[in-house]
Amino acid sequence: MTSQSNRDRDRKQARLIATGEGGFAVDAVATVDALWEALGAAPAPALEALFAHKPGLIWHLVPTVQAAAASRTGTASTGAQRLTDLTPAAVAAAANEAGCPTLTWQVWSDHGRDSFIVHHRRIAVLRVMTAWSLTRFDPARTGGAYSRAEILPGDYLVATVDHPVPAVWCGRVEVVPTASALAERPEFTAKRLAADCTVCHQRWYGLDGKPRLLPVDTPGPAWWIDEGSGFAAATGTIGCPVPGCTGRVWVRFLAEPES
Ligand SMILES: [Zn+2]
Repeated sequence: MTSQSNRDRDRKQARLIATGEGGFAVDAVATVDALWEALGAAPAPALEALFAHKPGLIWHLVPTVQAAAASRTGTASTGAQRLTDLTPAAVAAAANEAGCPTLTWQVWSDHGRDSFIVHHRRIAVLRVMTAWSLTRFDPARTGGAYSRAEILPGDYLVATVDHPVPAVWCGRVEVVPTASALAERPEFTAKRLAADCTVCHQRWYGLDGKPRLLPVDTPGPAWWIDEGSGFAAATGTIGCPVPGCTGRVWVRFLAEPES
């Protein structure tokens, strides 16, 4: 890896940090955005709209062959499954009921204990093996707006973050990440921080979500994160607490040490 791509990677990592209640925290939304980019996830807008749970919409899952025949003849589709529980597990169950084999499993769920995770992320896979269609009816719109989208066979990732505002992502991926592959991304385990001052070159580390930074290899001061000032989320930096130093301390997550 070149130093330029190292810098690009480091700049991206800096944006994954936010200040949480009383300390640094993972910016959950930014980490999912970064994962989507890393995986090259292709947008799946119809599924994303489904899992976003917008109130008032009426969803059906229909075997694609029957949906196409119904729209040709103007008749109601047979085999349609009304979707009321809009979770990947319930949608997969409805697809199987409609004769379209579909699997789902969870690849990540934060528990957030002893880590810098504040807002929890959940990521599930929806593996569509036989195409099905989604129909959406919005009774609130004049004439009732109806739309249909075909969900092609493939692997779809569904990610949700509940706070600070509910966010949903759905994208089609070529390779499904495993939980252990996600755990190798420092911002997913989020148990260790590194912090370096660009001027006095003091180095610190933070552990297990505690808002305290301890010196690395030097007799420098330990400090509580709220002793630094002027956290800048865009750069992941905070004012250096060393007396007389005007530098910025650059904070990033570290991968877990090999056990
Ligand atoms: Zn400094």
